[in-house]
Amino acid sequence: MSELQSLYLIFALFYLAECLVWVRSRGVLFFSPWGRTWRFKEPDQLFGNQNGGFWFGNPLPDLGYLQQGFFLPVCLTPTTLSTVDVHTGQLPAETVRRVSLDAIETVQRDGLSLIINQDFKIRAGNEHCARQLFRFLQDFRKVPEGERLAALEAFYQGRFHTGTIEERLADLRRHGLPLRILANLLWFFLFLITPALTLLMPLETLLFPWLTAYAVLHLATLGTFWIAYRRLHEGAAREGLYGALFKILFFTPGLIRAGDLLALPLLTTYHPLAIALAVDPQQSSTGFARRYLLRLKFPLGEDRWDAESREEAQWFRAWLLARCEALLTQKGLAPARLLLPDNLDEGSLSYCPRCLTAYQVVRGECAECPGIQLVQPQHQGERS
Ligand SMILES: [Zn+2]
Repeated sequence: MSELQSLYLIFALFYLAECLVWVRSRGVLFFSPWGRTWRFKEPDQLFGNQNGGFWFGNPLPDLGYLQQGFFLPVCLTPTTLSTVDVHTGQLPAETVRRVSLDAIETVQRDGLSLIINQDFKIRAGNEHCARQLFRFLQDFRKVPEGERLAALEAFYQGRFHTGTIEERLADLRRHGLPLRILANLLWFFLFLITPALTLLMPLETLLFPWLTAYAVLHLATLGTFWIAYRRLHEGAAREGLYGALFKILFFTPGLIRAGDLLALPLLTTYHPLAIALAVDPQQSSTGFARRYLLRLKFPLGEDRWDAESREEAQWFRAWLLARCEALLTQKGLAPARLLLPDNLDEGSLSYCPRCLTAYQVVRGECAECPGIQLVQPQHQGERS
């Protein structure tokens, strides 16, 4: 292999590494590989560990945008805050940290983490989420107990605001288009045109015009990234601009994927269900809404906790479930139908109400969902 080919191979490997996206725990990644159908991935569906998982993005010229939403790392009631996780559907930790809201004296933020009473730390999905939760808790703990429910409603109304999400996505498509075009041109130039030219022309003839074309494309892509980022992100969200620019200034593999850097921070302070409904309003049976509703309704392992934590988690889940159902109804969907399995196979005598797997036994516990009892279908093909 010649030196040039080795360099090219290293470049391609760096590019492939740039296609990897780390999805932190409590995060949900939404993507549309060809700019049409949206899909979603959560860390438990990816290669990773308890802190998150890797997702490998489409390495071909990208036509869609990535979006990411995060669940908040707290369970809130009008009286307490706890570290109970009602969102991710994973078997919860046995130890729960909880504090009465009236007993919260200090809330500090350190990057992604919030420190309550200098005693316990909660880690948010990203810095924007940590900042959002920090601001909310600063006020929420001082609100009189009788008004806290309204404050919680108002906070979640903001996180559930699909109208704003749709506007932001429309802005992304509009302001991100020049970047999308130039980044894809850069991809074609480096991965198709350059190898073809090296086969057709001697290197010494090619070098100067190639360098000129490359420099022009590189600078134009950087410029459009700068403009689009400033148009799309305001206030604290714009702080990420310099870090992103530093990453791609001299690093072309990163520059080709700059659309991800532009889009990923856009919606991270919104609830993943609201993002799911904004990107895919029809939410098919494989959509995120179904998965989320089922896990809110049928949690795992709550019997591991003390009675108070269990009661608080149940209150928060029921409160959240009612809001999610209202949001789905408002979007013209029937939440009750999402909770039922699609056509069950002939001979299925029961199904798990949580993961909707069909079983050929009348009763028992689901093999995948510890503690969840199977139920009998009301009639063959429940959703049909
Ligand atoms: Zn199950």
